[in-house]
Amino acid sequence: MSQTNMIPSQCVGCGVALQTDTPEKPGYVPAGALTRNPVICQRCFRIKHYNEASTVTVDQNEFVRMLNRVGETQSLVVHIVDIFDFEGSMIGGLSRFAGGNPILLVVNKMDLLPKLTNHNKIVNWVQRQAKEFGLRVIDVVLCSAKQNRGFERVIEALEEHRNGRDIYVVGATNVGKSTLINRLIRDYSDLDNELTVSQYPGTTLDMVKIPLDDGTHIIDTPGIVYEHRLTEMVSKQDLQKLMPAKEINPLVFQLNEQQAIFFGALARFDFVKGERQSFTFFVSNALEAHRTKLERADELYEKHKGELLSPPSKENLDKLPKWTKHAIRIPRGSRKDVSISGLGWMKVNSDSGAELVIHAPKGVRVTIREPLI
Ligand code: GDP
Repeated sequence: MSQTNMIPSQCVGCGVALQTDTPEKPGYVPAGALTRNPVICQRCFRIKHYNEASTVTVDQNEFVRMLNRVGETQSLVVHIVDIFDFEGSMIGGLSRFAGGNPILLVVNKMDLLPKLTNHNKIVNWVQRQAKEFGLRVIDVVLCSAKQNRGFERVIEALEEHRNGRDIYVVGATNVGKSTLINRLIRDYSDLDNELTVSQYPGTTLDMVKIPLDDGTHIIDTPGIVYEHRLTEMVSKQDLQKLMPAKEINPLVFQLNEQQAIFFGALARFDFVKGERQSFTFFVSNALEAHRTKLERADELYEKHKGELLSPPSKENLDKLPKWTKHAIRIPRGSRKDVSISGLGWMKVNSDSGAELVIHAPKGVRVTIREPLI
C-alpha cells in the first residue's frame, strides 16, 4: 500500500480532508503524525494541545465558497483588518457574502500608529473608508492583538452584537487573525487542555470551531492571500523588514520637485512637479530610505538594486514583479494619503499641489485616500 492510501481521509477534529504535502493548506498533518490515534490535522492539534491558532490559507475561489457558507448561517461575522494596510486587507464584497449577518469590523495592529493618535478620529475614518468600500458594519473596534490593547472592547462588542449566535472570524493573511483568536481562546472561550477532540467536531470543512460556554462557537476560518499586497510578494526574511514591529516613527522629507525616494528596491516615490514641500512616510523603520535626484534615479537603481537598495536582496530581486508606474496628482490645497499595499503610506499636505509617480511591483495596490492621521 502506498503512503497516501494509508492516510485516514478526514481530520477527527474538524472534518477537513487530510494531506501531508502543504503545511499552509487546510488539512495538513506531518507524515510522522499519521500513526497517532485518532489522527487530527496540525491546526486542530495546535489548538488542542497548545491553545494556539495557526493560519491556513485558501485561494480566492475557495474563499468565496467559504464566505457563502458563512452567509447561510445565523451568525456575527467578525472581519479583521490591518490598520497598516487597510485597503489591502479589506475583503471586497463581504457585505454581499455575509447574507443578512451583521459585520463587526475589528481593526488590528493599532500599536503601530503614533501614540497620540486620536481614537475617535480613527474610528470615524474607518467608518467612512468602510462605507466607501461598500462594507456596512455594525460597529468598529480598534485593538492590538499582539500588545493586548483594546481587547476588552473587542469582547464587549462581541457580547453586544452576537445575541447568542456563533461568531465567524474572517480576514486576509497576516492581519493578526491567529494572534487575536489565540487571545479569544485564552480569555473568552470554554476550551481547556482537558478538552477531547470530539468536543469540537467541525461540521464545515477547514473551519475550526472553538466552544463558548453557552454552547455557541467562535469559528476560525482560513485566511485569504491577497496578491495585491507587497507583503505577499516578498520572502519571509524581507517580510521582517517590511512589516513594522513597533510604533512607526514617521519619516518626514522636505523635497524639491525632481527628487526621488527609494524604499530599498521595493518601491520608489518621485516628486515630479510642485513647489518645495514636505512628505511624511509611514513605513517600517527597518526599511532604509534613499533620496536622490530624479535624473539619477534609474541609474542608481540599476547600479545598487539588491545591495545598497535592499530589501529585496540580490537573490530575491527576480522573484519580485517588475515595477509599474502610478501617476498621481494631488490637487492644490488638499490633504491626501497615498497608500502602497503592504509597504505603508505617505501623507501629502499640499497647499500648492503636487505631481507624483509611484513605482511599485506590478500588481501591488496603490490607493489615494483621505488622510488617516
Ligand atoms: P494571520 O495570518 O492573520 O493569522 O496573522 P498572525 O496572527 O499570524 O500575525 C501576522 C503577523 O502580524 C505576525 O508577525 C504577528 O506578530 C503580527 N501581528 C499580529 N497582531 C499584531 C498587532 O496587534 N500588532 C502588531 N504590530 N503586529 C501584530
